[in-house]
Amino acid sequence: MKEGNVLFSEERIKRRVRELAVEITRDYAGKPLTVVAVLKGSVRFLHDLLDCLGEHLTVELIEASSYGDRTNSSGSVLIRSYGQLRVSGRDVLVVDDIADTGLTLQSVVSEIETRGARSVRTCVLLDKPSRRRVPLEPDYRGFTIGDVFVVGYGLDYAGRFRDLPYIALLRPTEKAR
Ligand code: 5GP
Ligand code: MG
Repeated sequence: MKEGNVLFSEERIKRRVRELAVEITRDYAGKPLTVVAVLKGSVRFLHDLLDCLGEHLTVELIEASSYGDRTNSSGSVLIRSYGQLRVSGRDVLVVDDIADTGLTLQSVVSEIETRGARSVRTCVLLDKPSRRRVPLEPDYRGFTIGDVFVVGYGLDYAGRFRDLPYIALLRPTEKAR
């Protein structure tokens, strides 16, 4: 990955994640919170958020996939939970890497509501509002970006680049490699 492709540096991301955590901590004001993280893209974001979020917290993990190895949403979302997804009666914060079409978050939120959560909010590191296909507005967002494909900080292209500590643009010519 070339340096010129970097969109958000590691330092900038960490700073923004800390700000989000402060906002979340203030909004929930010591109430027990259940974080539901959408794997795999959110792993790094989750890790850094948990570093800054207070106590009274439980974490549930789910996996949602709609992309496969392509860079366009297939439109159908598959949700898999790891163990029981304990959200009944809880205040839930869904954490994902990015809101693109919004289909993933919409499915996850509706699944959690069906399971009887007391409240559900969403938190994404990145938001691509211009790509939205359903009316979904994240409650917490790190950065708003245009219609570009990004990798790094947990986000992959066909399984690659998740390990990058920063977020970079993946140019069409780099997709073939
Ligand atoms: P949505 O359901 O909102 O269309 O898409 C959500 C999922 O698509 C994200 O959680 C992410 O896994 C994937 N996705 C959307 N845009 C990008 C992108 O620019 N880069 C990468 N690596 N994944 C993306
Ligand atoms: Mg994802």
